[in-house]
Amino acid sequence: MILFKHKSVLKNKSGQAIIFILLAMTTLIFFLLFNVDLHQIVRRKNQAQNAGDAATLAAARWQGASINLIGELNLMHIMALAEQNQAAVHAITNMQKRLCFTGPMTALFASQIAAKNNHIYVDDEMTSLIREHAATVRNQYSTMFNGEMYYPEPWPGGWQDYANMLDQVAADGIAAGPDNASFYGDPQEGHPLFNKSFYEAVESQNWCWFYLNANSLLGNYNSYNDWPPLPEAIRDTYNDCEFFSLGLTPLAMEMQYLFDADALEKFFREAGFSDISYAMLSSTNVMESLENWFVYDSGIWGEWDLIQPDEGFPITGPVREQYNYAGADAVVRVNAEVERMTPGIGGDNQNDSVVWTAASKPFGYLEIDGDKTLPTAASNFVLPAFRDVRLIPVDAASGSNNSSADAEWVRHIRDHVYTYVETGPGQSSCRYCKNLLIWESAVFRQTGIDWLALYCDTCQRSSGGGGRGGGSRRGH
Ligand SMILES: [Zn+2]
Repeated sequence: MILFKHKSVLKNKSGQAIIFILLAMTTLIFFLLFNVDLHQIVRRKNQAQNAGDAATLAAARWQGASINLIGELNLMHIMALAEQNQAAVHAITNMQKRLCFTGPMTALFASQIAAKNNHIYVDDEMTSLIREHAATVRNQYSTMFNGEMYYPEPWPGGWQDYANMLDQVAADGIAAGPDNASFYGDPQEGHPLFNKSFYEAVESQNWCWFYLNANSLLGNYNSYNDWPPLPEAIRDTYNDCEFFSLGLTPLAMEMQYLFDADALEKFFREAGFSDISYAMLSSTNVMESLENWFVYDSGIWGEWDLIQPDEGFPITGPVREQYNYAGADAVVRVNAEVERMTPGIGGDNQNDSVVWTAASKPFGYLEIDGDKTLPTAASNFVLPAFRDVRLIPVDAASGSNNSSADAEWVRHIRDHVYTYVETGPGQSSCRYCKNLLIWESAVFRQTGIDWLALYCDTCQRSSGGGGRGGGSRRGH
């Protein structure tokens, strides 16, 4: 008995020990794997940040270089006029129009290389989005409508050239998605269904969003028939590239209404042309002929304080006066996959994705009479002025709400919204369609109304960040 009991205790003890060791080892392995995961996530996050920053800076650098080139061509245009070389004038204007597209396309290409050099892989979704868009440009933009092209071509054959360039960039795969693109056919903001933050508010039951941004929507809404009509696409210029636009436009004007010959001579000296004489510049040819000059689009370019009076300057810290302007900028999104060793919360999805969005813009100044002034200071006439690039806060960048590199979002606003307002919400794997299904529930909306009746005092507009859509969502 005693022997047996002793044996049993021994057996029991060794059994417990094995269980304990197994438990400890499992915990240890899990802990180790989790640490590997954590390390992986942190490392991928750093890589995504570096890649996103490098990609947007590369894009902005090419934006600046392209604007400088267009500015130099403005000066060459004047020289060609002075020499009465009409063929050269024609070629220069044509080249400027093309640069408004090839410049941003080079920026798009350069940002891909920068992202890939920083260990970001090709994103299949973003790549197919660019490919699809190239097909849209090729097949639909030049469609004839009442004897006119649906979207006027920027130059003869321009849409085909543009589609080819997009295809060429996509051929190597997109790793850095252009996130502030503004497509010619897409409606601009202004309707909740085209506002990503509406869907995010539904998803996270952020009732304050409704209180602050769409106060009457919760109370007055009954069904999808109640939505105001979807906005028409409004676009008054087709001279601008949709991706990383330079914000420039040709303006037909006589030089004498922009500058006198004295001012012109200064610009030439500043740009390094010393062999241009005052007599040439003051000739009637230069001063009085109606020409297409490339100027900064005043809806896009201008002093930051005037364009965005409530939003503050996009760089924190002391800012030199000559940097106080809004204008062309580049917003880039990169996705970095993290392969998990331990199961994630999502269950079926073993991989986490780190998303990083970054923005930057070209900076520079004109030097006139020794004073440094804004690049736009010379009557919005484009002159070479850009010297460096800087990161800016994403929410301060133009079109930062467009999310044009988010394939699910772009497909939703292009394809799903129109069906939804016609026939109501349907079953879909699309994240935004799922949110519309939730939104359609009267019980859901009543929850929000009840909550706001009690707590609307706690709703505050977030300070800092864009303000549009509830503040700073992303890095910088
Ligand atoms: Zn959808």
